[in-house]
Formats: sequence, C-alpha cells, structure tokens
Amino acid sequence: MSAKTPLAPSCADDHDPDSLAPDLALKRILSEIAPLKSPEVVSVRNALGRILAREIVSALDVPAHTNAAMDGYALKGADLPRTGVAALKLRGTAWAGKPFEGDVAAGHCVRIFTGALMPAGADTVVMQEQVEAVGDVIRVHPGQKPGQNVRPAGEDIAQGEHVLSAGKRLMPADLGLIASLGVGEVAVTRRPRVAFFSTGDELRSIGEPLSPGAIYDSNRYTLHGGLTRLGVDLIDMGVVRDVREALEQAFAEAAANADVLITTGGASVGEADYITETLRCAGLVAFWKVAIKPGRPLAFGRVHGAHFFGLPGNPVSVMATFYQLVQPALRHLMGETEITSLLIKARCMSPLRKKPGRVEYQRGVIERDDQGELVVHSTGSQGSAILRSMSAANCFIVLPTDWGRVEPGTLVDVQPFFGLV
Ligand code: AMP
Ligand code: MG
Repeated sequence: MSAKTPLAPSCADDHDPDSLAPDLALKRILSEIAPLKSPEVVSVRNALGRILAREIVSALDVPAHTNAAMDGYALKGADLPRTGVAALKLRGTAWAGKPFEGDVAAGHCVRIFTGALMPAGADTVVMQEQVEAVGDVIRVHPGQKPGQNVRPAGEDIAQGEHVLSAGKRLMPADLGLIASLGVGEVAVTRRPRVAFFSTGDELRSIGEPLSPGAIYDSNRYTLHGGLTRLGVDLIDMGVVRDVREALEQAFAEAAANADVLITTGGASVGEADYITETLRCAGLVAFWKVAIKPGRPLAFGRVHGAHFFGLPGNPVSVMATFYQLVQPALRHLMGETEITSLLIKARCMSPLRKKPGRVEYQRGVIERDDQGELVVHSTGSQGSAILRSMSAANCFIVLPTDWGRVEPGTLVDVQPFFGLV
C-alpha cells in the first residue's frame, strides 16, 4: 500500500465498520440514476457503440427468398435415384442475383450458384462435386437427400420476429444484422454530456513547468480515455484550483452544461481541500467510504441537478472506482441494460498481499499457459499511485472482502479488460 496523507488516516486501515460494500454502493448509485429519455435517430453506420432505444422487429424474411446453399445443380427431389443413375437434362443457369426464369420440370435440372434464388419446380441442390456432367446431361448417383442444400426464406430471421432489444450496445455484427433487414436508420439513446475536472493545488497541466512538489495531472487523461470509449460527450474542464470561489464556479458551470460531473482528488472526509466544503453547500452529496481497494472515499449525489461523482485523487484509485462504479452508472444512464462485467476464474501464479476487510482490484496479466489453462500474474507493485500497474495489466484480479493473503496456485476471479476498458 502506498503512503497516505496524514489528513486521511481512515484510508490506511482495512477494517472499517462504516464502509459500504461495493456491490451495495453500485446498487444505491443505480437506484438514484434514471436512464436518459429523448432518443435520437442515426444512420446504421453511426450507430456503432450507441445504445438501441427501441426494439428492432424484422419487416422481412431473411433470407427473403429460398436459395441455394451450395454451388451445384437444382432439381426435383423426386428425381433423385434410389438405385442406378439419374440422367437429368441441363436447362440453364441460376446466378446469385440473376435468377433462372423458367420452371424445372421432371427430368430436368439447372446449374445453380450459392445464394441464387431456387428456380420454380426445384427443391433440392446436388453439389457440383457429386455429379458427372456429360455435355448437357447431368448424371446423379444415389446417396442424395430431397430438400438438401437449400436455405429456406426466413431461415435466419422470420418476418415479425424480434431481432434486437432496446438497451443493447450496438456491435459490428448488430450493424450488419440491422442492414440485412433493409433498415438504414435506428433510434439510439442520447449521448450523456459528462464534465470532469481535477482538483489539487499540486497539479500542473502538460506544458507547464513543475515547481517543487508539483506533479502533472494524469487523471484527466485516463478519464478522457475511459469516457471516450464509453461514447459520451466530454467536457474537460481542466485543473481547478483548491480555492472556494474557483470550485463553486466550476461546479455551477459543470451543472449548467452537463448531465454528469466527475471530479478527482480531495474526496476524503477531513481533507484540507475546499472541495468537500463546497460540495456540502452546492449539492445533495453523500460521502461514502466504499470497501474497495484501491479507492474507498467516494462522493456521490447531485450538484445543482447534475449527477456527481467525486473520485479519490490517486491515479489507480480513480481507475478502479471509475470502472467499478462510475462506468456502470454511466452505462445505466445511457439506457444500456447489460452492464455487469464478465468474471472468469484463473489460477493465480503470484503470491498476493491482502488484508481482509475490502474487495481488492489488483492488477494482473491473464494468459493461457502451455497446457492451455488460464493463469494470471500480478503486475507487481500495487500502490494506488502506481499507474504503470494499470498500464501493464490486462485484467483486474478481484479478491473478495474476507480474503487475506493469496498463495500461488489459488483460483481467483479475474475481470478482463476487454471492450470498454
Ligand atoms: P487527494 O485525494 O486529493 O488527497 O489525492 C491523493 C493523491 O493523488 C495525491 O498524492 C495527489 O497528488 C494525487 N492526485 C490527485 N489528483 C491527481 C491527478 N489529477 N493526477 C495525478 N495525481 C493526482
Ligand atoms: Mg488533493
């Protein structure tokens, strides 16, 4: 654990009867946030990553017409031989997009390509590799089944069928699926406007010189990344000085322009910063100690009507609280229904230091070992200021509240960083 400021002694011990379990904290947060109304219509291409606002029902059969699943010959199933050889007369060709116009009569067949409309009269396709073509006579042997190698209309999606539910984040396959229905525009939920700023007199922005004791602000950049991935509209308000008037003005400005405000730094109760004091005046904000590590102090509520998250200042604490609490809340606000992240089991190969009392999100690298088993290693030093531990990781190792030290070989829960992280 990293050194803590003497002004925030509550962060240094792990057992805290007043602290809130993270799942309970998330439940409370979600119950306070109503999904945004007023959807907007966008073209299919622009819908990637957006949240579907209304269910999609197919107005068509997909495929729209019964068609060939193989290159071969279309014929009547009744003409297939049980014994001996059937010799069928070739009457023409059906191409994908260029149908054969006539009927296939008994004793006849049509050359057909994958995706081509099945000609009238034909119900079966024999693969081209399985016939003998002698001039315009096609010889078919036993062993074929009537109706084979044909894709019936509506096989993928039937007309009137439910295709996608409201609340789904649209992925590349969804764009294709929507396009396959001939639909060019969809209703998606509005992108929330999220304002964020950093607080702390020690913070400098890129381009400013570092005076003794000053550090560059990194939290605004991790938040910029995490929020951009999520698909919200960003309002980066920079570094706000720890001066009462500056904070009051920043809170008012954020609330006037944004649905959500996120701040980092100064969230500990009893901290010297003015942020807590200003918040007590400006909004309905609860100061929680969430039983997670890194993290713990979290301010949540409303400031002048905007949803507010006051995250801790340490860079890894910011990321852990963002991914465990803020990101699900924003996804819920955006109308997304499936917001729980996948946990998988892996064998932990590193010893992990932990004291009972909090859920820990340690940083790890998960991979397959030589036997194909999932194993996870710690990224090393787990201090909440060590941002490299996040950068080197591809997962959180999630250690339950009551666990202590973890011995190598233990099966642990792992939350991989795919998708939005
Ligand atoms: P605080 O929660 O304000 O006590 O900050 C805890 C630690 O995180 C302190 O060491 C701060 O200097 C550091 N910190 C706060 N904000 C940032 C930031 N935006 N970027 C990098 N470090 C920060
Ligand atoms: Mg501070």
